[in-house]
Amino acid sequence: MVLAEASLNVASAPSYLEALNSKQQQAVLHSEGPLLILAGAGTGKTRVLTTRLAHILERNLCGFQNILAVTFTNKAALEMRERIQRLLGRSVDGMWLGTFHSLSMRILRKNADALGYSSNFTIIDSDDQLRLIKQLLRAENIDEKQVPAKMVAGVINRWKDKAKTPDRAGNPQELTVQLYRQYQERLKILNAMDFGDLILNCLVLFQQNPEILNSYQQQFCYLMVDEYQDTNAAQYLWLRLLADGHGNLCCVGDDDQSIYGWRGAEIANILKFEKDYANATTIRLEQNYRSTNHILGAASGLIANNRDRLGKELWTEKQGGESVLIKGTWDSENEARFVIDEVEDYQRKGHSLSSMAILVRASYQTRDFEERCLKTGTPYRVVGGLRFYERQEIKDALAYLRILVQPDDGLAFERIINVPKRGIGATALQNMHVIAREQNISLPRAALLYAMEDGKGIGKANLRQFFEDMQRWRNMLDTQPHVDVVKAVLDESGYTAMWLEEKSPDAAGRLENLKEFVHAIEEFEFLPGFLDHVSLVTDNNNQSAGDCLSIMTLHGAKGLEFDFVFLPGWEENLFPHPRSIQENGLEEERRLGYVGISRAKLKATISYALRRRLPYQGWQVGLPSRFLSELPAAHVKHVQANGHESRQQNSPESLRRPASFVEYQAQHFEIGDRVFHQKFGYGDVIDTEGEQAVVEFDLAEEKRIHISFLKKQA
Ligand code: ATP
Ligand code: MG
Repeated sequence: MVLAEASLNVASAPSYLEALNSKQQQAVLHSEGPLLILAGAGTGKTRVLTTRLAHILERNLCGFQNILAVTFTNKAALEMRERIQRLLGRSVDGMWLGTFHSLSMRILRKNADALGYSSNFTIIDSDDQLRLIKQLLRAENIDEKQVPAKMVAGVINRWKDKAKTPDRAGNPQELTVQLYRQYQERLKILNAMDFGDLILNCLVLFQQNPEILNSYQQQFCYLMVDEYQDTNAAQYLWLRLLADGHGNLCCVGDDDQSIYGWRGAEIANILKFEKDYANATTIRLEQNYRSTNHILGAASGLIANNRDRLGKELWTEKQGGESVLIKGTWDSENEARFVIDEVEDYQRKGHSLSSMAILVRASYQTRDFEERCLKTGTPYRVVGGLRFYERQEIKDALAYLRILVQPDDGLAFERIINVPKRGIGATALQNMHVIAREQNISLPRAALLYAMEDGKGIGKANLRQFFEDMQRWRNMLDTQPHVDVVKAVLDESGYTAMWLEEKSPDAAGRLENLKEFVHAIEEFEFLPGFLDHVSLVTDNNNQSAGDCLSIMTLHGAKGLEFDFVFLPGWEENLFPHPRSIQENGLEEERRLGYVGISRAKLKATISYALRRRLPYQGWQVGLPSRFLSELPAAHVKHVQANGHESRQQNSPESLRRPASFVEYQAQHFEIGDRVFHQKFGYGDVIDTEGEQAVVEFDLAEEKRIHISFLKKQA
């Protein structure tokens, strides 16, 4: 029936429909009932989703407030919005189009009071989260060496990914469950939420307030989700609840591109769509429009090594083009030089820098490329890496503004109360914390009480001054442009002066950044809107104008495409990443390789270095990645470090032979050894096998761990 309707409409089809193949058209025209578009990279899934959305609006099937569209990153959301506007020729401002987090935030801001929050709640980042957990550990007299705050944060985040509130997280007597409960209570007092809370609290809101859920269910006649393979359990539930109203849920995704298992994504969500929605229609797309035959062949050959997949056959009309190049280099600096030389070469041939990207596995890899770009004067931007809003001076400035807007924001308060120095030391802060806990109030309120207590210390006088200033700036907000208030805050608090007096070489750069920060605020009408924006743009900072090369992680490149893609660091120990193999399995790493190669339209260049400098570890031998030997010979050309072009490019022996100049320093473990792991904390070795040890952790489940991640304790 849907097909008949499809061909009927196509007869008088608008041009955006004519630009699609028949399967894609079918997906666009399917407007009632659940729909799954399950297809490989570059087959037009995102294009179909966007067109479908525009088509629904074009045909007036509903108002634009009645569509909910979820994409994975803010950048993707922005692109989708622009494309819809282009298709429709009008603005769709205010539309419910964004990431799970931004859409949830919108719902929560409106309904915060139903959860006991006020609507100006702040969103804290992972730094603040750790600070808060550390406070809790200190208050409970728990040694952070025994229970690392990072580990607790990890456990809490996983619970949130799984939609588990403290009362459903497990045995209430367990330490981590208790910490989780306290952490949530503290957040509430602070009127703050962490990232995971945005989804979790929405779920709680819906479950506790059926009338609120119902109103959203009625509102959203059509729901659409891109990159569905990377939703976690909480996001899955969120969607199910909202889609329950009209049942018009359309999800698009690719099981081969599920790469966020480490953040709780559950590939099973996409695989069970047809079971979840009995009357679901599934459409598979097979023509890849993005890449040449060699690129597609290499990507498909790699992913074919995964066993746990649905399996798809993709084809492309783009025959010819260059093989995927595998380039060996002597060391990581050499690799960077090779890549940037190639970039310049393409540029000389007339290609724009924005048509090229370097996709790395680990963010520390970007530095070599950045340095090379600086040397050669090649404009570049690190997408999602060294994020502007994560720099120290920017976070400080943000903390000032957060307190301005939200006087109870204790984490922001703690960050800057002694920056610049106001004579408020650790003991004073500890006293404030005691007051806060005893009276069950926020830290700034406790600080105010503390400042009003008897005592003449310079710290107390400064603290009183601080609160007076804050009040004055808040009053200014009512009458003056917010940008002027921000300037006043930074200058009159002594913050700008602190960097002016600072002698370190990076002080000038920090002052520049602060200027840029004020500049960024100018683009927003209100301060709270700006702060919301900042808390959401963690994955992207695409302020830099002009033509530039993109450097980003493989994870950040999902959904994007470039003419020329460089994939450096394909070495054992880096890609596949040993820790990730441990925690998410080799197949997720292989999917990441598939995502990487399939970003390329014209050419993919993979490289490896025989020696690499690792952060804090010095030089290490680089063994070419096992994935290289999985690429089909027909689609690749291998040039070794010595310039020799090998025909046997895929023989694992020739790729894996270790260079003789580096020795391994193996640690030896025995049953009964006491060990420490960065994420899981302390534990005892209960079995060993080759380079693996089975460890019974004090605070986590028993795990099999590669010994390079364990530190032996005396
Ligand atoms: P990914 O899995 O990487 O997210 P995708 O399936 O979402 O990929 P799109 O990004 O939508 O794929 O499309 C890939 C490229 O192919 C885009 O440049 C898109 O404009 C183009 N494309 C898609 N469908 C067609 C078509 N029918 N005709 C021409 N070009 C198309
Ligand atoms: Mg896509």
